[in-house]
Amino acid sequence: MASNNNVHVIDHPLVQHKLSLMRNKEASTNSFRRLLNELAMLMTYEVTRDVPMHEVEVHTPLETTRTKVIDGKKLVFVSILRAGTGILDGMLNVVPGARVGHIGLYRDPKTLMAVEYYFKMPQNMEERDIIVVDPMLATGNSAIAAVERLKELSPKSIKFVCLLTCPEGVAAMQKAHPDVPIYTAAIDRQLNDHGYILPGLGDAGDRMFGTK
Ligand code: URA
Repeated sequence: MASNNNVHVIDHPLVQHKLSLMRNKEASTNSFRRLLNELAMLMTYEVTRDVPMHEVEVHTPLETTRTKVIDGKKLVFVSILRAGTGILDGMLNVVPGARVGHIGLYRDPKTLMAVEYYFKMPQNMEERDIIVVDPMLATGNSAIAAVERLKELSPKSIKFVCLLTCPEGVAAMQKAHPDVPIYTAAIDRQLNDHGYILPGLGDAGDRMFGTK
């Protein structure tokens, strides 16, 4: 993993390989969704490297011993609807005990600003570590609005995970929330005038749900 200024690029060969397959416009909905799921599992491995653990007593077939487990229920994965769902599924495959929150935000096509239409979180957020997920950190508007809203609940920590971002998205997010680390598989060249990442992979939501 290459880290700089609170931005962590997960450059593991398996992650890069799967991302390359997802970029291909010929990839079917089925394979796009499967790859996103696999990528999310691999990325979770890095993103959860420092999660809190506690000791438990375990009876092996031979002895009783003390060993460590993660505080799965203290972790909250927050999915920004609708594209966050694809990453969320993969993350839950490897941390099935995590709690889940949802934020519904859509991008106003004219202003590209985030408009909230849904917000549902677990209770006692002040005791929890949050991992916010959205595959594309493009203008940063949705991610910034989501994190702003989550900070009102005073969680213990917030991380942001995406598949792809660009210099504009990173800069916007870091300006608004310099305390929130960003985990991504790649930082692409640029944002275009319609808020799409170049070279990117197109509209992540449409590609994972087959809506276009
Ligand atoms: N959202 C997407 O799905 N793709 C982009 O390139 C930018 C934002």
